[in-house]
Amino acid sequence: MKHHLRDCPFCGATAAEDGLVLASEEHIDTADGEKLGVGRYSVHCYGCGVTVSDDFLDDCLNLWNGVQTPPDPGII
Ligand SMILES: [Zn+2]
Repeated sequence: MKHHLRDCPFCGATAAEDGLVLASEEHIDTADGEKLGVGRYSVHCYGCGVTVSDDFLDDCLNLWNGVQTPPDPGII
């Protein structure tokens, strides 16, 4: 399933098919095994490490596509 994702609003990484912004149905694990996000679905930028997540895919995509400012790292 191809998702419509905007390019990363933080670092400008491309969201094209071979880009650095990817949607996932699983939590993204960091290198040290820490779980990122609280929802089932995540959009993660491998360029700068930003992750947004939600329990619903559409909400997750809307969150990513609508984000204007960097989220508080303490709440994601
Ligand atoms: Zn980025």
